[in-house]
Amino acid sequence: MIVVMKSGVKQEHVDHVVDLIRQYGLKDHIIVGTDRTVVAAIGDDRGMDTSAIENAPMVDEIVPILKPYKVASREVKSEPSVIPIGGGYEIGGKKFGVIAGPCSVENEKQLMQAAHAVKKAGAIGLRGGAFKPRTSPYEFQGLGEEGLKLLAKARDETGLSVCTEVMSISQMDMVAEYADVLQIGTRNMHNFNLLQAAGKTGKPVMLKRGWSATLKEFLLAAEYIINEGNQNVILCERGIRTHEQYVRNTLTLGIIPAVKHESHLPIVVDPSQGTGHAYMVPSMCKASLAAGADGLLIEVHPDPEHAMTDGAQSVTTETFAQVMDDLKRVAEAVDREM
Ligand code: PEP
Ligand code: MN
Repeated sequence: MIVVMKSGVKQEHVDHVVDLIRQYGLKDHIIVGTDRTVVAAIGDDRGMDTSAIENAPMVDEIVPILKPYKVASREVKSEPSVIPIGGGYEIGGKKFGVIAGPCSVENEKQLMQAAHAVKKAGAIGLRGGAFKPRTSPYEFQGLGEEGLKLLAKARDETGLSVCTEVMSISQMDMVAEYADVLQIGTRNMHNFNLLQAAGKTGKPVMLKRGWSATLKEFLLAAEYIINEGNQNVILCERGIRTHEQYVRNTLTLGIIPAVKHESHLPIVVDPSQGTGHAYMVPSMCKASLAAGADGLLIEVHPDPEHAMTDGAQSVTTETFAQVMDDLKRVAEAVDREM
């Protein structure tokens, strides 16, 4: 970090800052300019509480030099990570991977119809919630283990990788037994103990961005998982809360180049939670691919009108097949493979 002193600073103030820097185990380097004096603190100061320096007399501001995140950053790994998701499939690198399926697992017929349709259209993964985080406790909460069993059956029939949400540590072992990819939902991105527990399973984790989280918080959440020895983290942008009313969430596609700039982790986009409207989903799929995303997580339902959750944002199996066709052409234009 760089400690910028206020103008008119005296030597005793600079000496005090130098003292504090040394107490932190860092090296100091004083640069006296015509107008301002700055003290560079050399060494890894990430995670240090530097408030003593901030509050020292005549300190104007502290400018961090190192990014707060480490293991998710490009500084530690410059080449993009490719994450194996089971079934011989991967997310990241040159390939663009689509994981699709219903918001919730409702029954065998619904899930198998969706699974076979998305597989036929070219998806590599099947999504479907067995444990659903619902805003209202009076709404359908998911089938629980019965839903997980159906997902495993769909995997057996189609060969698709199964991505499903885990909401609590107490569910972790059970969900990990059936799932190929553990989804951590937007409401749990800040549940650090859950992130660590998911990290410990060693399974790939689909980490959704918290709806009010910054990019920095998102990447630090990923580090909770990676620090458990689990490199297999896929970031998922699913939109954030804004004042806007015409969408359920505001899908901030600008995060794609930002993640690519800051991190080696792959990022996929969920245009379903990201817009809340099925008619918007095809456009956002194409935009995500064009903007450099590594894949999609899409809600597809054989009969959206009668879906038990998120019908309004679920595309039909027919629309999904059309989207996949369109995506193939976009992929070619932006030098990606599907
Ligand atoms: C979902 O994928 O159905 C879901 C609940 O997602 P999110 O956590 O992004 O709201
Ligand atoms: Mn949903």
